[in-house]
Amino acid sequence: MERDEAVAHWKQALAELDVPKDSPKRKYVVASVAPAVRVAIAESFGLPPGSTTPGQLAEALRRLGFDAVYDTLFAADLTIMEEGTELIHRLKEHLAANPEYDKPLPMFTSCCPGWVGMMEKSYPDLIPYVSSCKSPQMMMGAVVKTYLAEKKALAPQDICMVSVMPCVRKQGEADRPWHCQSGGVRDVDHVITTAELGTVLKERNVQLPELPDSQFDNPIGDGSGGAVLFGTTGGVMEAALRTAYEVITGQKMERLQLSEIRGMDGIKAASVTLKPAPGSELAGLLKTRCPVKPPAAKPDTAGPAAPLHWDGCTGEGEITLRVAVANGLGNAKKLITKMQSGEVGYDFVEVMACPAGCVGGGGQPRSTDKQVTQKRQAALYDLDDKAAIRRSHENPAVQKLYEEFLGEPNSHKAHELLHTHYQAGGVENE
Ligand code: SF4
Repeated sequence: MERDEAVAHWKQALAELDVPKDSPKRKYVVASVAPAVRVAIAESFGLPPGSTTPGQLAEALRRLGFDAVYDTLFAADLTIMEEGTELIHRLKEHLAANPEYDKPLPMFTSCCPGWVGMMEKSYPDLIPYVSSCKSPQMMMGAVVKTYLAEKKALAPQDICMVSVMPCVRKQGEADRPWHCQSGGVRDVDHVITTAELGTVLKERNVQLPELPDSQFDNPIGDGSGGAVLFGTTGGVMEAALRTAYEVITGQKMERLQLSEIRGMDGIKAASVTLKPAPGSELAGLLKTRCPVKPPAAKPDTAGPAAPLHWDGCTGEGEITLRVAVANGLGNAKKLITKMQSGEVGYDFVEVMACPAGCVGGGGQPRSTDKQVTQKRQAALYDLDDKAAIRRSHENPAVQKLYEEFLGEPNSHKAHELLHTHYQAGGVENE
């Protein structure tokens, strides 16, 4: 069944689930659940945020008829591996002052289609500054239609991939024409929002709060605490720093909760001092470029986004990575204006379009509780606190994906499957 533009995503997903399992037309129908969905779905049943478990949600989706239930947390960890590696690569090339390299600093995150769409339309000059990484949803789709298809001995077109998302913009993201495999097979076939899923569960009498816990399916059903944080403002940055710190310094980051970029402030900022591991390429570059003291700050490029700049050498063989988080598009515009005027400078910037991030997404259940996004955010922080693994690079399922399939982060294959491009002016109908 191809996607029919005139029919809502959720209706087409249900139509796929309603094909009898013994029919030759039945596809292998899989679900993948975004971080912010798991804390808000309880509200569809009149319960407070976070009062049903991710395991109950996995069970509910199985009872709806999905053949397998995966966790988008896996792809959020994968995003950190790819995006963190890209950031480090940009830092190295910046230090090496490579005139051939066309990816400047600062780097902006790319996992929010609301931000990407606004950037393409209103700030096309920023395209080179935005990470080329696909969002976790689209990475998951690409992994399902290749790695998983191979493991299950299925043709990609015989898998129907359904994302459960807090976001109405994720449908347009999945519809982008280049988000597909060869032959035009879509990476993500349909997107259901949290609120739509709540309605469908109730209509089909799947009583989520009464269900037992079950596990997400392997091999792409595990995620770290860092991945959980993708569901709220500041979370992508926090997860990225947990990994980048260890990759750059060779040491574990002791303070896992970065309070400076937690909470609901409109613009949040932090700086992290990193001493590259002795003998590493970054340590060598620092030695060459910053032997005594930092160079005077100067524009990094003559492009239209100048004077965004970087001056991260401390003279002690360390980098001070300056990060910022824009909570909502209004704050993103304010932050970009300040950066372009040179009033502030950052090396890595997270932007999420919805105030509070995905916990406040347009696809979440409606609530009259004015504190609902704070409560959803607190529920995500709690899941991170309790996670057995809290750093993305420690996720064994992601490590196995690289070993068995991708090689290493930012490899040629990883670029083909997990990275994307942007279109100045935006994509029609989004
Ligand atoms: Fe979607 Fe909003 Fe999350 Fe962006 S912040 S991915 S628009 S829910």
